[in-house]
Amino acid sequence: MVLVHLEESLLEVLKYAELKYFRMVSDDDLPNEPLDVAVVEGAVTNEEEAIMIKKIRRMSKFLVAAGACAVTGGLNAIKNISPEGEVESTVYSSPEHVRSGKAFGLNEYVNVDAYLYGCPIDRRELINTLMSLVMRVPPYIPGLTVCMECKMNGNECVFLTRGELCLGPVTVGGCSALCPSNGVACEGCRGVLKGTNPKGLELAWTNAEISPDLIRLKLRKYSDVYQVPAR
Ligand code: SF4
Ligand code: SF4
Repeated sequence: MVLVHLEESLLEVLKYAELKYFRMVSDDDLPNEPLDVAVVEGAVTNEEEAIMIKKIRRMSKFLVAAGACAVTGGLNAIKNISPEGEVESTVYSSPEHVRSGKAFGLNEYVNVDAYLYGCPIDRRELINTLMSLVMRVPPYIPGLTVCMECKMNGNECVFLTRGELCLGPVTVGGCSALCPSNGVACEGCRGVLKGTNPKGLELAWTNAEISPDLIRLKLRKYSDVYQVPAR
């Protein structure tokens, strides 16, 4: 949907690229020919999807995992740490028809060349990645945290002023600190940035007398780092 909503920018991208398969806008089958770039969203949750992503990998020179589910399994990965069937029976009235099991990011099955983080992905990052590929240069990978962007935006800290649990200090930046800039704590939808210290954040929250259950819930929401087993 983010790709569709690029509107004029999408027309610019389409000057250089030909869309071969796009399930959101056409029910044409996956073509049986090599692709330069595949942008794949969604977690892999069953054998059929695992076969599909391996096929797409073989066909494509460059594979982009787009969105939290494709990057780490996203919210779906809550199933990985919950008793079998519990999530499905909570969400669906007829869970027996659900064909998905545990949820993993694409890199559990294939090599991924670039990641678009977030839930949803950031439209500017999508455009930059597509245009980088058109120009045959590596896409830009954000190397700063949401917290740094939040500071650059001059926001008041929601943790220091209101005690809200904010994952900004350990989360991959690039969204311009969208949530804290609107007065809402970061939920960590872009995943944990390598080199940050999630354990230190956990300790800071513990020292602020936040309950361990709440800390656990916050930290496991989007991050595979915190996919700890359910009790
Ligand atoms: S609100 Fe969150 S992202 Fe902003 S400074 Fe505080 S901890 Fe960092
Ligand atoms: S601030 Fe956090 S939760 Fe909000 S979009 Fe950015 S990474 Fe996602």
